Amino acid sequence: MLKVDINRLVRNIHKLAKGLGDVRIMGFCGTHEYVISYYGIRSLMPENVELIAGPGCPVCVVPAAYIDECIKLALDGIRVFTYGDMYRVPGTEMSLSRAKAEGADVKIVYSFLDAIRLAKDGKESVFFGVGFETTQPSVASRLVHKDVPRNLKIISAYRLTPPIMRYILDEVRDIAIDGIIAPGHVSTIIGSNAWKFLAEDYGLPVVVAGFEPEDVLIAIFEILRQIKFNDVKLFNEYSRVVRSEGNIKAWRYVGKVFDVVSAGWRGIGIVKESGLELKNSYAEYDARLEYGLDFKGGRDVAPGCRCADIILGRAKPTECPLFMRVCNPSSPKGPCMVSSEGTCAIWARYGNLNKIRVKTKDFKT
Ligand code: SF4
Repeated sequence: MLKVDINRLVRNIHKLAKGLGDVRIMGFCGTHEYVISYYGIRSLMPENVELIAGPGCPVCVVPAAYIDECIKLALDGIRVFTYGDMYRVPGTEMSLSRAKAEGADVKIVYSFLDAIRLAKDGKESVFFGVGFETTQPSVASRLVHKDVPRNLKIISAYRLTPPIMRYILDEVRDIAIDGIIAPGHVSTIIGSNAWKFLAEDYGLPVVVAGFEPEDVLIAIFEILRQIKFNDVKLFNEYSRVVRSEGNIKAWRYVGKVFDVVSAGWRGIGIVKESGLELKNSYAEYDARLEYGLDFKGGRDVAPGCRCADIILGRAKPTECPLFMRVCNPSSPKGPCMVSSEGTCAIWARYGNLNKIRVKTKDFKT
């Protein structure tokens, strides 16, 4: 537990923000968006500081074609292991959960180890591997240690976080970002130094932050301080967990098992060197080769859904015409409304600012 005087911190945020003009801070991570929404942190911000949600929902960014292929396999009787977060994400025609209701063999697991344990029964199975850098080492290390039964194949829909941040800054010209809160969990694996490029190549303040509300407020304070005093750099606020070099051993496993490839992001398109595919030396586990999957086609975006814009920080959920009208957590039309890290689902559950608002004048200096 961090010991921080929140009132003082918020007062100092207001002091720093004075005279800065509009400042837009992107929180990369879905969990940061949860903290910001759940604790009403937006309502504590000065008028000129906007917190925008970024692309950090790994389930939201997997193209629909992957879900479609998993459904086809599962309807053919091949058991598909999936994380619960992916279970209800819509593919082109349906979700895995709907497919299961129609007889497909889909099983929710909490980890790759669960899938290994269950696959020891010998049934032909596929693990739907989804996630950012945090989840990749658990698969890689089991493959390196030859712990994976031959009847268990892997679909790698793994994605990497720094390349999508570069993509947003290079390719998405119509949004302004003045500072970035980098993901804490991911950085435990890749290290805080992985985010240095944001300061060095783009001149942006960047803070690797933890997941207490205090962590997020400190990150906002530090970004504003860097802007105010023109002292742009990488700051690791989460040093109680994240090392500058990350978890070298875990990351080495990933390098042994996967090749970095250009990969599709749902509704966005191909992002350079942003995905992982199994190396040839692990081809016997590659579901892509075993079943001839190409992950092409599929409908990523339902009519009216603005998930891709929301993932890129171009739009807020409330700017989607379907938000809480026809799309809600019980009946999601896009992936951002499903996962606990999806911005629309978070705003649907916790975004009622009227209920959690603390008047900003309470913190005026
Ligand atoms: Fe897509 Fe629903 Fe979010 Fe709109 S509210 S962007 S339809 S997930």
